[in-house]
Amino acid sequence: KKEKIERGEDIQISTGAPVIITATEIMVNVSMPEVAERAAATGADGVGLLRAEHMILGTGVHPIKILKEKGEEALVEVFAEGIRKVADAFYPRPVTYRTLDAPTDEFRGLEGGEDEPVEQNPMLGWRGIRRGLDEKEILKCELLAIKKLRSEGYKNIRIMIPLVTNPSEVRKVKELAREIGLELGKDVEFGVMVETPAAALIIEDIIKEGIDFVSLGTNDLTQYTIAIDRNNELVAKYYRENHPAVLKLIEHVIRTCKKYGVKTSICGQAGSRPSMVEKLVRWGIDSISANIDAIDTIRKTVARTEQRIILETIRDKKFKMD
Ligand code: PEP
Ligand code: MG
Repeated sequence: KKEKIERGEDIQISTGAPVIITATEIMVNVSMPEVAERAAATGADGVGLLRAEHMILGTGVHPIKILKEKGEEALVEVFAEGIRKVADAFYPRPVTYRTLDAPTDEFRGLEGGEDEPVEQNPMLGWRGIRRGLDEKEILKCELLAIKKLRSEGYKNIRIMIPLVTNPSEVRKVKELAREIGLELGKDVEFGVMVETPAAALIIEDIIKEGIDFVSLGTNDLTQYTIAIDRNNELVAKYYRENHPAVLKLIEHVIRTCKKYGVKTSICGQAGSRPSMVEKLVRWGIDSISANIDAIDTIRKTVARTEQRIILETIRDKKFKMD
């Protein structure tokens, strides 16, 4: 594997464009491993969100069916193959793998998916880490995939869990990982997605369970805060990531995490919008993960905002020279 390269250097290598260095890290979201090379070519500092759902949807088969018919090693390799592609394209830049966030309505269409429960409102239903902990046999395969990749030399993978609502979920995932010989927070950096008002409001209790970072999932945080089902077209016009209640929760999470030395990031769509990015940088977010096509704009917005903050600080004479 290549030795670590300095930040900024990779930007120059991959794009040939003038280097814009920012204090806030610029990361990229990857939903399908197939776009790994294109995502890496943006010069992003790493992957802030690698979604697992398409790794499974791509096989066309329900993970429980894979497990029953082909065995644990086969399912581990499905996850490992997807993550490897991205970890390889980005090495040694970090790749943040999010464990499976499987909504019942999407997984029902898979071969062997007939048993997926029919829910009145899947967005308030069996998904995220609560489902992950109910289906430990799948979550275990994801953790085994990370362990396998580490043994192959990919030390650039981090793990985060979706839709956290209780500190106990953090504890339980750590216990499961320990059972397979993976120490989260030590062998692998470990974080949670903050995408429910519950997690945002009790962020301090979640931090106390021992996490390295949080990532704000503003797509879900918005829908749960202002009670707008993100899949319901009837109410789509009311969906506002910059609703004051959503902003208040985000600011609270960033400021609290700063107090405890926990890194903060955003991987929801709001991170791809310049108006939101200015606020996030001012609140002190450590990294922003945006869509591939938004990276250049977001990098420029971050640079401009950071520059303004420095200028304002100098103007206010808050900045003292010895
Ligand atoms: C989010 O909720 O903001 C997020 C990034 O996760 P997803 O869109 O996959 O639910
Ligand atoms: Mg989400």
